[in-house]
Amino acid sequence: MLKNRDTLEAWDRDHFFHPSTHLAQFARGDAPQRVIEGGEGVYITDREGETSLDAFAGLYCVNVGYGRTEIADAIAEQAKKLAYYHAYVGHGSEASIELARKIVERAPEGLNHVYFGLSGSDANETNIKLIWYYNNILGRPEKKKIISRWRGYHGSGVMTGSLTGLKLFHDAFDLPRAPILHTEAPYYFRRPDPAMSEAAFSDWCAAKLEELILEEGPDTVAAFIGEPVLGTGGIVPPPEGYWAKIQAVLDKYDILLVADEVVTGFGRLGSMFGSDHYGMKPDLITIAKGLTSAYAPLSGSIVGDKMWAVLEKGTDEMGPIGHGWTYSAHPLCAAAGVANLELIDSLKLVDNARETGAYFNKAMADALSDHPLVGEVRGEGLLAAVELVEDKTERRLFDASRKVGPQVAASMLERGVIARAMPQGDIIGFAPPLCLTREEADIIVDTAKSAVDAVAAGL
Ligand code: PLP
Repeated sequence: MLKNRDTLEAWDRDHFFHPSTHLAQFARGDAPQRVIEGGEGVYITDREGETSLDAFAGLYCVNVGYGRTEIADAIAEQAKKLAYYHAYVGHGSEASIELARKIVERAPEGLNHVYFGLSGSDANETNIKLIWYYNNILGRPEKKKIISRWRGYHGSGVMTGSLTGLKLFHDAFDLPRAPILHTEAPYYFRRPDPAMSEAAFSDWCAAKLEELILEEGPDTVAAFIGEPVLGTGGIVPPPEGYWAKIQAVLDKYDILLVADEVVTGFGRLGSMFGSDHYGMKPDLITIAKGLTSAYAPLSGSIVGDKMWAVLEKGTDEMGPIGHGWTYSAHPLCAAAGVANLELIDSLKLVDNARETGAYFNKAMADALSDHPLVGEVRGEGLLAAVELVEDKTERRLFDASRKVGPQVAASMLERGVIARAMPQGDIIGFAPPLCLTREEADIIVDTAKSAVDAVAAGL
């Protein structure tokens, strides 16, 4: 039964520990609260009947859009037939087997096995364990360090929060933990020398990575992890030639590559996988969000053949692999995954991400690139960011305490569009559902422009 508004508000403030929330302000009633009740296409509706265009697809995950009954029906059918059985010691459901096959058919060549988890964070925990296991089986117990990038986002567990290269996720949590190291972010807008070309900046990033590997000793470095496009760290597509240059350094020192495609997997960049989009050759790929469009929690680690051969060798030597979650390959989530991937194909959403994404990015750049408050408009496929600066020519940032980014996001929300103030820097992020139309893209761009104008006028 529906609770009345006051009761629900009080229970929420008194009992619900919300993630990524200012706990004290929320408990005191000083931070907003919103109860979402419904969704259709790119729109969500709250309990007050307010509708917003969700230009961030939840947390860049509702890729097929809200209200898809095909996925809801698939989950319901599976629940009626078999809600749960585990996947240990060779068990599975038809849905989980079919989904593994569907993922591998879409994945880059040479990645043929999928371990299922529930979140991007736990999939990256799995990856870390597999990397360590791999080098132990190969008799290289010293080769264990994993290099991530500043501004990378890979989760918020103990080890995955360590991989994440954002201050907010480290401070007061005793992170990062060894043996995790960080190298430079491929963030051309904040390059060390304004005169550097994109290609020269990619060389610089690759040289910094090599320097770190040599300092640590190549025999101690096991893997490098990166998102094809930096996501939570600011939505930053790589500079020209970046991945080829990074790949060359990794190959030189026999270091594995993990492509964290939690955001980019299943179409967001206008290609099925970001790895193919940028010619990366990963040994492991992390997937989550777009795998089920968040209709049910499901993630995966797609394992490349080189690692798989060693994992098989390991179990021949040591017995069954000592890794498993109760809910791995949960039948309800797998059924959601199968229906979701079928929908992505039948609605041609990868093509739409490419075509409408190009239209959206151009419209955003046309509307805002010359604005005095805007340092850069960037993006790829249906990912875009507007970075706000105090001084355009010097690329000088605002003092974080002025909260210019959050002000723009709040102003957009008042105008009916949800964009995300990214957690580090005054960066407004956009990642709408992949079913976005040009008309909806225009609404987002017009709203962003009005909000930036309004905030600029009040500074
Ligand atoms: N990896 C990337 C690239 C992500 O963007 C995220 C979440 O945003 C994660 C991992 C962690 O996923 P989850 O929040 O499902 O644990």
